[in-house]
Amino acid sequence: GAAAEPPPKLVLDLERLGELEGVEVAPLARYAATIQAQRGDYNGKVLSIRKEDMRTLAVIYDERPSVLADRLVAWGVLNAEAADAVSDDES
Ligand code: C2E
Ligand code: C2E
Ligand code: C2E
Repeated sequence: GAAAEPPPKLVLDLERLGELEGVEVAPLARYAATIQAQRGDYNGKVLSIRKEDMRTLAVIYDERPSVLADRLVAWGVLNAEAADAVSDDES
């Protein structure tokens, strides 16, 4: 379709993230905590992140960005409409 609208924002559900446990979740939890600390944004229920951060997380998880985005949706921590907009292309 036509690219008239901006892509949906990537929004992490911090409450859901806090409920999850295990080694698979730990890198994402640390990354989100780092962004919160950098912004001084500690009290939100959600955290909007940069598209670029999904690429960094994909490297950490050794997955393609689109595959990682789908996994985060399955965990319930990422909004599905934003995940649909994550592509594996450069730029
Ligand atoms: P920075 O990248 O030099 O950004 C400086 C300030 O510009 C940010 O201060 C924020 O007020 C504003 N800013 C930059 N990009 C955006 C944006 O896309 N949207 C909005 N709303 N504001 C933007 P802030 O928030 O205190 O962040 C301080 C530093 O923490 C940033 O310096 C950056 O190095 C890091 N940071 C914060 N949030 C993120 C993030 O989501 N991802 C990454 N990779 N770094 C982040
Ligand atoms: P929105 O982006 O749809 O965000 C809706 C609400 O989700 C925000 O209400 C806030 O309570 C929460 N939220 C989203 N991302 C974050 C986050 O990274 N950290 C925290 N702590 N909360 C988050 P709020 O703050 O009343 O903002 C209402 C609307 O105002 C936002 O809707 C957005 O359209 C605009 N807005 C607020 N801050 C920024 C900003 O830094 N940059 C831009 N471009 N728009 C902003
Ligand atoms: P947003 O604030 O609505 O910004 C939407 C897009 O506008 C960003 O997508 C980015 O491409 C561009 N943009 C906005 N402000 C700046 C800026 O100061 N410098 C640059 N180079 N680009 C800017 P992006 O990067 O995917 O970020 C998505 C959302 O994540 C932002 O929506 C904001 O809610 C949050 N975010 C990203 N970086 C920061 C940051 O450093 N600080 C804060 N507080 N929020 C951030």
